[in-house]
Amino acid sequence: MEQKENKILLHACCAICSAHPIEMLKHSGYEVIVYFYNPNIFPREEYERRLEAQKTLCAHEDVELIVGDYEPDVYFDYVRGYEDCPEKGARCELCFKLRLQETARKARALGIDTFTTSIVISPHKNFATLTKIGEEIAAAEGLTYLAVDFKKKDGFLKTNKISRELGLYRQNYCGCKFSVRLD
Ligand code: SF4
Repeated sequence: MEQKENKILLHACCAICSAHPIEMLKHSGYEVIVYFYNPNIFPREEYERRLEAQKTLCAHEDVELIVGDYEPDVYFDYVRGYEDCPEKGARCELCFKLRLQETARKARALGIDTFTTSIVISPHKNFATLTKIGEEIAAAEGLTYLAVDFKKKDGFLKTNKISRELGLYRQNYCGCKFSVRLD
């Protein structure tokens, strides 16, 4: 990745997924500001657990953490009619869009012109889909979406290693009510 001297707003979907992206962006010369905006996470207790892990990680990495509002009703309204879609389908694309749209809005409010997301590090999340959504939002907002496939070069292994070393909370489902595993 090209060396930069500017700020970037990194949308963090959870601590585990954002550990490697934070380190990679820092090593590339960015001043990383983390934005935790995840109204999809259900239930509230799970949201709180993931947020606590994010706070631990950001303190360890010495990066600023901004916590967005927890507004599950906004998420449920946004994906209405798509509740039964399988994971990786249309509901997930809306979920990405909601979170990246809000990240772009926050970046503009902070005067930061570049944003990205840790969502893409998961082997279950499609880089091309997230890039398309991110770039469309960035174009509409006059911002830049940094399209980095964090899972490349063993990124997923690296992020798991960091999170294990820090003893971060590890969830067993993606996040929303519809992805909760009953097993
Ligand atoms: S499965 Fe994950 S990405 Fe898809 S809608 Fe639920 S929380 Fe969002």
